[in-house]
Amino acid sequence: MNYTSTRNKSLSVTSAEAIKTGLAPDGGLFVPNEIPQMTQEEIGALASMSYTDRAVKILEQFLTDFTGAELSECAHNAYNKIKFETDEIAPLYKLKDNTYFLELWHGPTCAFKDMALQILPHLLKKSVLKTGETKEVVILVATSGDTGKAALEGFKDVDGTRIIVFYPENGVSSIQKRQMITQEGNNVDVAAVMGNFDDAQSGVKQIFNDKEYAQVLERNNFMLSSANSINWGRLVPQIVYYFSAYCNLCKNDEIKLGEPVNFVVPTGNFGNILAAYYAKEMGLPIHKLICASNENNILTDFIRTGVYDKNRPFKTTSSPSMDILISSNLERFLYQATGCDDVRVATWMKELAETGRYEVPDVTKAKIKEIFYGGFCDDAETLATISAVSKETGYVMDTHTAVAKCVYKQYKEETGDATKTVIVSTASPFKFTDNVLTAIAGKEAAEGLDDFELLDALAEKSGLTIPASLAGLTNKPIIFSTTCDKTEMYDVVSHMLNLS
Ligand SMILES: *Cc1c(COP(=O)(O)O)cnc(C)c1O
Repeated sequence: MNYTSTRNKSLSVTSAEAIKTGLAPDGGLFVPNEIPQMTQEEIGALASMSYTDRAVKILEQFLTDFTGAELSECAHNAYNKIKFETDEIAPLYKLKDNTYFLELWHGPTCAFKDMALQILPHLLKKSVLKTGETKEVVILVATSGDTGKAALEGFKDVDGTRIIVFYPENGVSSIQKRQMITQEGNNVDVAAVMGNFDDAQSGVKQIFNDKEYAQVLERNNFMLSSANSINWGRLVPQIVYYFSAYCNLCKNDEIKLGEPVNFVVPTGNFGNILAAYYAKEMGLPIHKLICASNENNILTDFIRTGVYDKNRPFKTTSSPSMDILISSNLERFLYQATGCDDVRVATWMKELAETGRYEVPDVTKAKIKEIFYGGFCDDAETLATISAVSKETGYVMDTHTAVAKCVYKQYKEETGDATKTVIVSTASPFKFTDNVLTAIAGKEAAEGLDDFELLDALAEKSGLTIPASLAGLTNKPIIFSTTCDKTEMYDVVSHMLNLS
């Protein structure tokens, strides 16, 4: 199977090439030139396998230039009990009849980014070798918090790779900062940038686009690459857990093989829900995909009206990982939904860049509505949902998951659909302690506490154990204390790589 660009169908590259380069040369995203099909029998056979073996079976369908042994090695390095604290890797929690949570946050950084970033480094390393590349890969990341830490944990000590993360000095929470500056590993570097996330991001982009600097890197046998969420190597591992959740439902006799289920996905960049869409297209029995947004509800509007319009204020919410106005991965869905109309997709993306808006035709609108339901909720509803579910059932969830739960309630009230439904849970409640504690114990309970006191207080009120990776942070030595201004970011890179 080869890969093409959403903006130019005549392009054709291997999956290794797509993973190595990340973005197509025309600015489009890499997509498979066909969607592999899984029969009911094949899905049934996955049910008796471990998560890791299920992952190998799904990855094999898409990464056909990798051998089974290579994929098995990647999957075992990524998904194991040491890293995920549970053999199940992505366990399902039954809330009540017909409603389940798929917990994707048992990895090392307690958020669902680990599901992809634990395996991407291994896939990337093999892709580099397969394409005959001899240079060492240097991953540069500018982060507003979660991605940086997940990428560091994924790439640490992976041979043939280095990773350098820049975070804004005053733009991350103290837990997030502590997670990064205590990072272990022999190939990692972390630096604070004076300024905000935009400063860090534009600095990284400048280094990426600097042709002269690329030559210096090349002379020293290095090449730059990126670990951001449009890389196909981050998307394909996310398809796995939709199959895995379905298999667990079958295995636990919650559903019969072939019975359709719904998935509710808290959505920002449209990566997670797009993986669910691919699973559906591959033959996984999915009835509706419910796309849940916070007050940045651009996707709700798009699903309901067919108009994508980012000319609106950006809102800062209690589910920050979904505060986004350009959902990059939507481009891949548009390509599939238009029957691979690369010209049309390229035109819409041009309109989006120039005017901030595009509108799809009626046939596409109908197609979108057939597959998706879109809804959103505000911060007050998010906290009320955490509080209500905790009171009724004792289950405590994070703010992003709560957005999904709230939108599912709207969906059920509006449609009466009684199909069994899996709500995708994307972060541990301990990552967003302040809001979660406020929701379950009142504002007074959280007031005046620092981040570490909040962890203890939430553990006490919820009866849950603090994830080991967060609990251990207070005692970890600080390894990185570099602060630079935007112009000094080059020096940080050159120094780490010992460039001549
Ligand atoms: C990144 C993230 C999301 C959004 O996922 P997308 O793939 O960008 O739609 C939701 N919740 C959490 C906790 C995240 O970190």
